[in-house]
Amino acid sequence: MLTLKCSACRAKLWKYYKIGPGEVLRCHRDRIRKVWCMEERDGKVFCSCGKAVGIDKGSFVKMNKGAFTYSGTKDTT
Ligand SMILES: [Zn+2]
Repeated sequence: MLTLKCSACRAKLWKYYKIGPGEVLRCHRDRIRKVWCMEERDGKVFCSCGKAVGIDKGSFVKMNKGAFTYSGTKDTT
């Protein structure tokens, strides 16, 4: 499970169950677990500080590179 944080204010955004190796480019909504900050308006996803961290694509959020950091483990199975 990965914990995503805003790169601007370092607030926790949400926990994400990532499958497979590689970069976190998108977050599928059905694998987002715990949410601390996720403000959605005008088709974008913001941190509570106002930083745009992603774009709403319906079933997933396309993440803005550099707008977030993450820690934790990727599940490779
Ligand atoms: Zn923030």
